[in-house]
Amino acid sequence: MNRFTNSIHVRKPDNSDSHYESISMTAAYDFYSAEEAYERFSGSAPGNVYSRFTNPTVDFFEKKLAAYEQAEAAISVSSGMAAYLIIAMTYLKQGDHVILASGIFGTTTHLYRQYFSQFGITATSVSVEDLDEWQNAIRSNTKMFIVESPTNPLMHVADLESISLLASHQNALFIVDNTLLSPIFQSPLSFGADLVLHSAGKFIDGQGRSVGGIIAGSQELISPLKANLRSSGVCISPFNAWIMSHGLDTLRARMLLHEKNTRNVYNWLKEHSNVNHIYTTLNPQHQSAHLIEKQQSGHAPILTLDISGGKNNAWKFINSLSLISRCTNIGAAKTMITHPTSTTHLRYTDKEKEMYGLTDGLVRICIGLEDYNDIIYDIKNALELVSSSNFISLEKTVS
Ligand SMILES: *Cc1c(COP(=O)(O)O)cnc(C)c1O
Repeated sequence: MNRFTNSIHVRKPDNSDSHYESISMTAAYDFYSAEEAYERFSGSAPGNVYSRFTNPTVDFFEKKLAAYEQAEAAISVSSGMAAYLIIAMTYLKQGDHVILASGIFGTTTHLYRQYFSQFGITATSVSVEDLDEWQNAIRSNTKMFIVESPTNPLMHVADLESISLLASHQNALFIVDNTLLSPIFQSPLSFGADLVLHSAGKFIDGQGRSVGGIIAGSQELISPLKANLRSSGVCISPFNAWIMSHGLDTLRARMLLHEKNTRNVYNWLKEHSNVNHIYTTLNPQHQSAHLIEKQQSGHAPILTLDISGGKNNAWKFINSLSLISRCTNIGAAKTMITHPTSTTHLRYTDKEKEMYGLTDGLVRICIGLEDYNDIIYDIKNALELVSSSNFISLEKTVS
C-alpha cells in the first residue's frame, strides 16, 4: 500500500485503560454497515451520528453536570448565550411574551430586546425582588420567566419558590441561570425551576480557558433541545466539554476556597475600609437574608464595592491594583476586577442604570483562589492610593 494511504489508516489506539477518558475529537463516526447507518440516522438504534449533535465527550460532560444538579438530563452548547438561544428557539414562538428579572446578564436582556423582538417575541423586565411586579407583568401570552439569583453585580436575590409558583400557575417555563453559585451552592430545580442553565466557562471551567453553556432539567424538556441542536448547530467543541467535565471534578473544592477567601476579604473591608457599601450575600443585613439562608448553601465569590468619587475614583482604584487582574470575566483562579457601567453594563441606558442602582462608583471584584492575605494587601494599597488624593479615607473616622 502507498505510504500516505498507510499512514492515514494506522489503527486507532485503544484507550480503554487510560485513567482519564480520551477526548473524542471527531466530527463523524464509522458505521459497521449500511444498515447500521440507516438505523442510527432514523433513530431506531442508539449511537453517534455526527458531532454537531452527538459526541461521547460532550455526553460525558452532560451526565456529570446532570448528576450535580440532580437532573434527569442535560445538554451542553457552545456558550451561555447559546443556551438562551436554543431554549427560546425551542420553546417560544411568534406572539409569545417573556418576563426577565432586572439585573440579569446584560446580553440576555439585549438578546430579547434586539433580536427576539424581530420574531414577534416581547419581553418585560421586572424587579427581581418584587413579587407584585412579577404578578402584574403576567399576560395571557406569557410563556417564560427568566431569573438569575443572585444577580451580578448587585447581588439581588430572587424568591425562587414563589416565582416558580407564579410560573407554573401560568403554565410558563421557569428558567434559572445558576452560573454565579454553581450547583455546589444552589439547586434551582429543587425550588421549582424547570430548566437550570450555566455559562460553563465561568466556575465550571474554573480557570477561564474555554467558553460553553449547559442546561439541565427533565428528560421531557431536554429532549426537544437536543432535537433542536441537530438543526441549530450551536454545539460545544468536545475539547471544551472535556475541560469542563474535569472542571466539575474540582468544582466543590474550588467553590469552598472561593467562598472562604471572599469571606476574609469582606471582613477586612468591613473593618478597615470606608467604601460606601459592599454588595454581597455575605452581608447579614442583606434585605433577602431569609431567602439566602433558604436557597443557598454558600455564597458567590463576588464583592461589589461602591467607591465614593464616582468613575474617577473607581478607575483610579482599578488602575492602582497590581495583583488583581483588570478583566470582566468571573469564575477563574485569578481575582478579577471590572467597572460595570463602562464595560459589561455599558449598553444600559442612563434611566435603566438608575433604575437598577448601577452607579459609576461601583467596582466588581470576583475573588479568586490566591492566598486571601495577598488579595487584601493589593486592595489595601489601591484604596490608600485613591484616598491619598483625599477622595476617600481608608480608616473609618472615629466620631
Ligand atoms: C457570562 C454569563 C452568561 C453568558 O455566557 P457566555 O458563556 O459568555 O455566553 C450568562 N449568564 C451569566 C450569569 C453569565 O455570567
